[in-house]
Amino acid sequence: MTLRKKLIAGNWKMNKTPSDAAALAAELVATLGKRTEVDVIVCPPFTALEAVGRALDGSTVKLGAQNVHPETSGAFTGEISAPMLRALFTTHVIVGHSERRTLFGETDAFINQKVLAALKNQLRPILCVGESLAERELGSTLKVVQTQLEAALQGVSREQAAGLIVAYEPVWAIGTGKVATTDQAQEVHGFIRGLLTKLFAETVAQRVRILYGGSMKPANAAELLAQKDIDGGLVGGASLEARSFVELVNAAIAAV
Ligand code: PEP
Repeated sequence: MTLRKKLIAGNWKMNKTPSDAAALAAELVATLGKRTEVDVIVCPPFTALEAVGRALDGSTVKLGAQNVHPETSGAFTGEISAPMLRALFTTHVIVGHSERRTLFGETDAFINQKVLAALKNQLRPILCVGESLAERELGSTLKVVQTQLEAALQGVSREQAAGLIVAYEPVWAIGTGKVATTDQAQEVHGFIRGLLTKLFAETVAQRVRILYGGSMKPANAAELLAQKDIDGGLVGGASLEARSFVELVNAAIAAV
């Protein structure tokens, strides 16, 4: 019997104006807004957080951001801080997404600062880790994931770790239509849970949700979600339309 409620999170990336985003959120609320068997989070762009937050108000769907700066305020042009996100009723934040790592040069040390800032401000980080295709082909998947995870979690206490969410996202599967096989995904998820046990404690590791991300679709979700250490999904493309996202949430409900 698992202690972990399944979780489906939508990463809308740099898509949708505030009104388009609010319309999608309203569609999701109409179908999913009272569901409690699984957790559902949507992560719109910063500019749509307020409008989406309003559309989600009173529902069980939670609001996440896609990024956060470690500092609280100051001369950081173009950045958004954790207290600013909290003021918009954001409860979760994606940290260390591979697009941030590769396109914006985010290092493990910087991601660690973001994780700590999020936790300090009662925002739950959705920490993304994952290997590139070249790293997988070299056989270094587990080593890469271990380095990213250990670096990002430096200074995180055992109490804080229980509120953490990890997303395993093989970079070669993101937005490519190539999904990891269930065996490939379960191997890494089980490895991450083992690392969390070593870093914190078995009781903590059994509570942390580990999501799979990378071309998750209604057609492949059930098989992935049936794996023992796959606790949900972080979904890009398939989260941009209500129909496919609702189907993914229904697959998670069916896997409970
Ligand atoms: C993502 O960007 O986190 C992601 C998993 O994208 P996609 O579902 O489109 O592969």
